[in-house]
Amino acid sequence: MDIVEMDKEYVLHSYARNETSFIKGKGAKLYSDDGKEFIDFASGIGVSSVGHGNERLSSAICEQAKNIIHISNLQIIEPQARLAKRVVELSGYDMRCFFGNSGAEANEAALKIARKYGEREFEQKRFKVITLKYSFHGRTITTVKATGQEQMHKSDFSPYPDGFGYVDSIDAIYEAIDDKTVAVMIELVQGEGGVEPFDKDEVKALAKFLKKEGLLLIVDEVQTGVYRTGEFLASNLYEIEPDIITLAKGLGGGVPIGVAMTSLKDIFEPGDHGSTFGGNYLSTRAGLEVVDILEDEYKSGNLKEKIDYFSSYLDRVSKSMPELFVSSVGVGLMRGLRVKDANTQGKIINEAFKKGVIVLKAGRNTVRFLPPLTITKEEIDEGFKRFEEVLINI
Ligand SMILES: *Cc1c(COP(=O)(O)O)cnc(C)c1O
Repeated sequence: MDIVEMDKEYVLHSYARNETSFIKGKGAKLYSDDGKEFIDFASGIGVSSVGHGNERLSSAICEQAKNIIHISNLQIIEPQARLAKRVVELSGYDMRCFFGNSGAEANEAALKIARKYGEREFEQKRFKVITLKYSFHGRTITTVKATGQEQMHKSDFSPYPDGFGYVDSIDAIYEAIDDKTVAVMIELVQGEGGVEPFDKDEVKALAKFLKKEGLLLIVDEVQTGVYRTGEFLASNLYEIEPDIITLAKGLGGGVPIGVAMTSLKDIFEPGDHGSTFGGNYLSTRAGLEVVDILEDEYKSGNLKEKIDYFSSYLDRVSKSMPELFVSSVGVGLMRGLRVKDANTQGKIINEAFKKGVIVLKAGRNTVRFLPPLTITKEEIDEGFKRFEEVLINI
């Protein structure tokens, strides 16, 4: 039985999978079992933030694995305490962290924090969280309901938890707030929804309004966090002070980890929340190394240089092919090309893959780019050389 057959036979079919199997990775390059080389402009959906086969990350993980991988949250976990300190200090906010294993779990923790705040702070409990129509917050039964996209609330999996309201835009949030509303949860740059950065002034005004009303602002930075937008957090870029921020994708460089951090530092008491695996030695040691690597890239100016270099390619491609593209969108290394229609979007992504460059879809009309933050100029050159060859034939 070959691997493709094995996958089909034994793995539940919840993904529309491409059948390529990768067997080697180095930096932003991946190699499939039939010997083909790919430039990875997707980093496993924004996860492999320091590239594949990163020496510093892999040695840190190996060293940790040879010692302790896991004990439990019943004891102090040294790298967890250290990573919490690092993440809080880099964020610039006065917060504490809860560790889980994924973006959805980080958002679940955020929602529990908001619900408890709603119970404690108001005479009549407030529990409703307002989110945006094209948001994406996860796949658990609660976070999928928090996700505003109607087609994600399949009746197959109903009933869903109550307590969510959806609006089309930041502007529409104000009117949607009622006497049950406790929080607003947004991404600052929508990822799955189509690489859509919101207007900074609108977001700042919303943050100010919520603070004044005593309502919480939850920023889902699962995709935007950990330098993806060029700053440690997109919240830093937007100059706001959220009450709760969630992180996951890029933080572990591929090792599963999620964080909910909050300025409500005493909201949880023992027993309120927990996770068996969350924040264990392995994942937090990985997180520490990733944060160190990326802070070096940030401080040295390398990250900014890479962002400018990548951007200039996207702008050029977008402008030189008006018959395919409407615009170049996004911030930092969370970027997209708005394509004129969904058909063209699918065709570009599939053809690019055949030519050895991996890009992602976002929404119905965006080709998304989430390259490793440590990508080299040579890798960017090679990726766009292949990508532009693809476009000529679309
Ligand atoms: C990917 C993503 C999630 C879900 O993360 P998982 O680790 O798949 O649970 C939540 N929010 C945003 C913004 C994401 O991009």
